[in-house]
Amino acid sequence: MDKTKIDWCDSSWNPVTGCLHNCEYCYARSIANRFGFHANEPDINERILEEIPISRGKKVPYLFDFQPTLHKYRLDEYLHKKGRNIFVCSMADLFGEWVPDSWINKVMGGCQNAPQHNYLFLTKNPARYAELVARGLLPKKDNMWYGFSCTRPGYTGWFNMGFHTFASIEPLLEPLEIPIVDWVIIGAETGRRKDKVIPKREWIEEIVSQCAESDIPVFMKSSLSEIWGEPLIQEFPERLRRSVI
Ligand code: SF4
Repeated sequence: MDKTKIDWCDSSWNPVTGCLHNCEYCYARSIANRFGFHANEPDINERILEEIPISRGKKVPYLFDFQPTLHKYRLDEYLHKKGRNIFVCSMADLFGEWVPDSWINKVMGGCQNAPQHNYLFLTKNPARYAELVARGLLPKKDNMWYGFSCTRPGYTGWFNMGFHTFASIEPLLEPLEIPIVDWVIIGAETGRRKDKVIPKREWIEEIVSQCAESDIPVFMKSSLSEIWGEPLIQEFPERLRRSVI
């Protein structure tokens, strides 16, 4: 179970880790590589762990570094915990095209076994949502929120089809129009990357104004503090009011 510094959720949960999108600003890859064990298993179907690996008496959280891995021993981690807003797979893209359906089904099963929580998914590949919907494999529940990252214009999309949806505009890399969703999260790139993009305040203002027109709650991440220069807008949709845990 992961405590988290991510300010728009209460906890993160990582039954799957690893991602092949290779975004240049990825913080998760740096963490997995730093704490990784550097084991190499080219076949994704062999990267399924029944128990947490131990080496020299210490737990190994990233046996295969950032290669996609299913950690089955984490599936019931939140079973008996008090209800909260959980970011599912903050260290992966659960809906990357390389992820087997069976892994997604297992994670969804874990969610459905602990219905006291709200589950927030986030992907850079929302086409997979649509594809799962077409096959009847994406649960439509009041406590399941399907988010997608949009950092640049030209996003074509994930239409909500009655699901709870949200857009994560993080990092904000240029001005863009927001899609119609139930919630918008905005953040700036963090870290010390050489070509790091600092968003302009007017890009943020424009998104906030679009959200106000469409009555969409906005959550500004603390990474915008300096750019915004006044108290951050940190709204939640009604169903996701911040839990007290
Ligand atoms: S999608 Fe997320 S986890 Fe995957 S490489 Fe990009 S930033 Fe990292």
